[in-house]
Amino acid sequence: MNQSDHDFDKTTIRVELSDAHHDIIIDWSKEFDDVVKEMFRQLAEFTGMPIEKTWAVRFMKPPGNDVHPENPFVHFAGSNSCLVIGNSPEFNIQYTKEDIRYKFFGDDNCFALNTMLDTTFFENDLTAEYLLFHRDLIDETECNTMFCHHSSNRAFLDKQAKIMNFNFESYLRDRPLPNLSIDNFDVILARKWKILVDLNIGQYFDSYCKVYVSNETFDRRRLRTYWPNRG
Ligand SMILES: [Zn+2]
Repeated sequence: MNQSDHDFDKTTIRVELSDAHHDIIIDWSKEFDDVVKEMFRQLAEFTGMPIEKTWAVRFMKPPGNDVHPENPFVHFAGSNSCLVIGNSPEFNIQYTKEDIRYKFFGDDNCFALNTMLDTTFFENDLTAEYLLFHRDLIDETECNTMFCHHSSNRAFLDKQAKIMNFNFESYLRDRPLPNLSIDNFDVILARKWKILVDLNIGQYFDSYCKVYVSNETFDRRRLRTYWPNRG
């Protein structure tokens, strides 16, 4: 394939759903902050998610030839490489643009997309995070501890985007916040469950696949999104 000199400054990342895909182009000649902004903008173009409510994109790749500890994306020897890019400049200070370009992305930049929805700590807003898994980490037929096939398709993503574009702030305006603090965590959880049940959107948050619920990769707190006594 012939590439102009200009193209050598670019990397293409393929983002896949089971029934759609989109190529993200990273132009390394830009400043780091602009590279990040462009990545979120191009992902939003594909997903329909509001950029300001998308807080991070997390890429996972299987172990490669880069040796710990020189590679900042491998946190212990033999583990998967993990690159988290935050949607604000102060989040991305632990590595450089060159680290990302030369130590994470390579020739095979094909990733499958899961999108994780959550609420902020005080449940006054919705947030989304993109989880992008290299193809070699995925079982093509079954969900594994990282990746859920059920939620990696256009229909599911469209529903998630609709939820994210819902005017959650105005919904909450009529539902005053209780006195929330880390000390009354049960109240915080109960409120989250009630919101998800009221809006009937729990299945698009973190309980859509039982395999995924048992996922400990990201050390996430999994919440029940239905009332225990509901039929
Ligand atoms: Zn699944």
